[in-house]
Amino acid sequence: MSRIVMKFGGTSVADLDKIANAANKVKQEVDNGHEVIVIVSAMSGKTNELVGWVKDSAPADGLYDKAEYDAVVSSGENVTSGLMAMRLQEMGVAARSWQGWQVPLQCTGNHEAARIDAIPSENMDASFASGVKVAVVAGFQGVMADGRIATLGRGGSDTTAVAFAAAFEAERCDIYTDVDGIYTTDPRIVSDARKLHKISYEEMLELASLGAKVLQTRSVELARSYRVKLRVLSSFEEDISEEVGTLVCQEEDIMENIRVVKGVAYSRDEAKMTLLSVADRPGVAAAIFGPLAEAGVNVDMIVQNISEDGRTDMTFSCPTDHVALAEKAMTDAQTSGELNYKELVTDSDVAKISIVGNGMRSQAGVATKMFQVLADEGVNIKVITTSEIKVSVLVDRKYMELAVRALHDTFELGIE
Ligand code: ASP
Ligand code: MG
Repeated sequence: MSRIVMKFGGTSVADLDKIANAANKVKQEVDNGHEVIVIVSAMSGKTNELVGWVKDSAPADGLYDKAEYDAVVSSGENVTSGLMAMRLQEMGVAARSWQGWQVPLQCTGNHEAARIDAIPSENMDASFASGVKVAVVAGFQGVMADGRIATLGRGGSDTTAVAFAAAFEAERCDIYTDVDGIYTTDPRIVSDARKLHKISYEEMLELASLGAKVLQTRSVELARSYRVKLRVLSSFEEDISEEVGTLVCQEEDIMENIRVVKGVAYSRDEAKMTLLSVADRPGVAAAIFGPLAEAGVNVDMIVQNISEDGRTDMTFSCPTDHVALAEKAMTDAQTSGELNYKELVTDSDVAKISIVGNGMRSQAGVATKMFQVLADEGVNIKVITTSEIKVSVLVDRKYMELAVRALHDTFELGIE
């Protein structure tokens, strides 16, 4: 019998009515002849509430026990898995819930950000063999080798879903959420943003890491490694046939209308930091970015200027809420003598805008076109970085929406 994975995010299981709505969709797939592994998130808002309780219970230094964090925060998913199984049973579908440790979903690494090591299939296989049609699994959680409960990092149920699809060789992994697919850009900014039928793993990874928050980045990486067919679709629409939603798949499987640019992404809360006059010699980059990494600063773009008289300027970007950490790390490095610079200049009012598309690999001139559009709109570019399938720029935040619209227009992304 074919198996599929269906994952329901927090907004899709936000209350008992929504759980019933999701259960209806599961029943449809059972009636279609599938065995179904359902992965559920906590009811929307629940995880935030649980995290809040942990933080409020933390000692004065803020250093709480991360194993206990996992024990508390994983509980939201336990509730939804049980409720969903009950609802399915009431509909006449043979279903049972599974917590991570019961499967067991084996984890390694650190509490609060654990990684999946293995998912032995015996227990669940036996359950299916005994006639159970639906396994409702609590997402986001697993168990460490020492038996303690682990969680996979915020948004981790997507990763749970893909991992189950890979381990059980599911035909598809359907991610049900509150949007009906992946769009060429944010429809709240550009009214003619268009839903994509298909997008490659690589493009989705770039978009996911750029803040298109529909899928956890790690889940897309995992899907790419195991060639899991991942579909994003709305749990609030009737139609769940294979035509709806957006399929994230291999580039080779995308026959339609190859475009150079697939989407425009943005990240609103970026900061640009420049260290003025650091020595231009081996070891300096390490002396800057080592302490930043240790401080947990998520450095994104990096630019080193040309040097003059053996000194240079180093610019990097990071999220605005990492600015204080970064400033402290740099000041400490200066004080301890590891690093020497004249001044640290911070600009917290920038946003990052990126164009993404596999077609850029083989087509020249895409970046130029992007720069020209921004120039025509009078938008000054502060930093540029490129990868094989992406060009990103930092601009003043006040121009962000204007720039996104202009780029979406120029690359004709609203046109089918
Ligand atoms: N409930 C968890 C969170 O809010 C995991 C998830 O929903 O993916 O981060
Ligand atoms: Mg999510």
